[in-house]
Amino acid sequence: MADLKKYLSKDGTIRIATVISTDTVNDAFRYFEASPLAKTLMARAITGAILMASQMKERLSTALHFIGEGPVQSIFASAHYEGGAKVYCENRNAELPEGVTQLGAGLGSGRLDVIQSRPFEREPLRGTVELYTGEIGDDIAYYLNQSHQIPAIVSLAARPAEKGVEIAGGFIIELMPGYTEETIQKLENLQPLMESTAKKLQHGAKPEDLIDIYLDHFEFEEVIHPYKPHYQCGCSLDRVERSLMLLGPGTLDEMIEEKETAEIACEFCGCKYELTVDALQKLRNSLDQTPVH
Ligand SMILES: [Zn+2]
Repeated sequence: MADLKKYLSKDGTIRIATVISTDTVNDAFRYFEASPLAKTLMARAITGAILMASQMKERLSTALHFIGEGPVQSIFASAHYEGGAKVYCENRNAELPEGVTQLGAGLGSGRLDVIQSRPFEREPLRGTVELYTGEIGDDIAYYLNQSHQIPAIVSLAARPAEKGVEIAGGFIIELMPGYTEETIQKLENLQPLMESTAKKLQHGAKPEDLIDIYLDHFEFEEVIHPYKPHYQCGCSLDRVERSLMLLGPGTLDEMIEEKETAEIACEFCGCKYELTVDALQKLRNSLDQTPVH
C-alpha cells in the first residue's frame, strides 16, 4: 500500500498529488527482479501513473507507454483511480551503454503514449508526445504541457536496492485554468529551494514532506483521496489458461508430450502458475471443440 495525498490551492489554480510508493513498487518486484536501470525507470513510471490516475474520477484509469530505441525498449505502467497499479518492462535486464550515465538513455529517443480509459465511451482517450529526456518525470511534464496545455512540475524518484527498491515516490504539481503569471513565477522561484525528492525519501519523508515548500508558500487544502494505491496485476489462472490457448494446439501438444507440470509465469508480475498435464489436456481438448477464428 502506498501513502498518497492530494491538495488543491484555495484559489483552485494549483493541484498536487504526492505519494510514497516504495511498498507498491516493491510488490512489482516480488516475483521477478530487474537491472538497477530498469527498476529505477519502472518505479518512476508506476509512480507517475499512480499520481495521474489519482486526479481522475471513479472507474477511470491512466496508462503510460514509454517506447524508445534504447536498451530498455519499452515500459508500460497503468493505474486506476481506485489505486490498483502495475508496471511492465520489455527488457528487464537492460544496462546503460558503456560510459553513459544519463538514465534517460535507457529509453533513448522515442515516444510516450498516454491512454486514459473512459468507461462510457467506446474509445479511450489517447495522446502521444516525443520522449523529452526519457527520464520519465520530464516526459510526463512534457506530455501534460503539450497535450493538455497544463504547466506542471513532475518529480519522480527511486533508488534501486539489491532486492526491489530502497525508496520510491514523487509528486505532480499541475496548474489549473485561471492561474496567473504570478503563480508560475512564484513556483519557479521556489523550485531551487527544494531538496531533491530522492534525498527526502531517503530521510523517511511522508507524502506532504515532498512538497513542504509549496505548502508553506501557498494556501492549500487537502483533498481526501479515498483509496490507497497498491500493486495489482489482475492475472489469474484463468487468464494464463486463456493466453495458453491463444498459442494454439501445437504448443499445447508439445507441453503435454513433456509429461510434466508446466510452470507459466505472468509476464507482468512474474507470479507463477502451475498447470498439470491433465489441465493442459483439458485445454487442448477444448480447443478442438471451439472453432478457432
Ligand atoms: Zn500477474
